[in-house]
Amino acid sequence: MKTWRLGAFGGTFDPIHSGHLIAAASVRNALELDFVFFIPTGNSWHKLPGPLAPAMDRLAMVDLAIADYEGFMSSSVDIDRHGPTYTIDTLTDLQAQWHGENREDEATWFFITGADALADFPNWKEPEEILQRAQMVGVTRPGFTATPGPLLTGHSIVIEAATPDIASSDIRLRVREGRSIEGLLPTVIADYIQTHALYRETPVGL
Ligand code: ATP
Ligand code: MG
Repeated sequence: MKTWRLGAFGGTFDPIHSGHLIAAASVRNALELDFVFFIPTGNSWHKLPGPLAPAMDRLAMVDLAIADYEGFMSSSVDIDRHGPTYTIDTLTDLQAQWHGENREDEATWFFITGADALADFPNWKEPEEILQRAQMVGVTRPGFTATPGPLLTGHSIVIEAATPDIASSDIRLRVREGRSIEGLLPTVIADYIQTHALYRETPVGL
């Protein structure tokens, strides 16, 4: 019987970039996780406008970006489920699908977010139920302070990591304006964005 240590890293990943990869690798090392699952959202509910690239493109980019990393996997649970993405559903579905090498294997789960997301945690759907299923992990992000709210006392871990100051929204803007995105994300992803003509249009509502 083995007790696995597993991370769930949800995000829009529109597109995935080096900040995500470094954040996940830092958390994986610090907490000695066997695997980190990258889980692209279905429809975005907290961002207007929602994701700009179709879910299948965002998932394809995640798969391309993580291919060279040990211990990184993707999951389409949030894309397969209809409706908006809530972390409680992400964890419920991922944990229901997961099985170890043997039937008796168990897992300790961690839900990974950037420092910008931790402060808002009490407003998430069913935060107490989330904490029954996973410990929250906030990874530091340039420009944001990790401020776990009262609900998270004793239930969260802050990982200080040398994450770069990169954001998907900045990458999308650069592509739209024809500026370089070199160094912000793996070359395969820059190539994918170009081949599939992503992020060229001005989003509706902006
Ligand atoms: P956007 O600008 O569109 O919001 P983003 O770069 O914040 O995109 P998301 O898909 O929103 O990317 O983020 C997924 C998760 O990764 C979130 O928990 C976010 O806090 C975290 N994250 C994103 N970029 C970084 C970074 N540079 N360093 C640390 N964490 C990050
Ligand atoms: Mg974000």
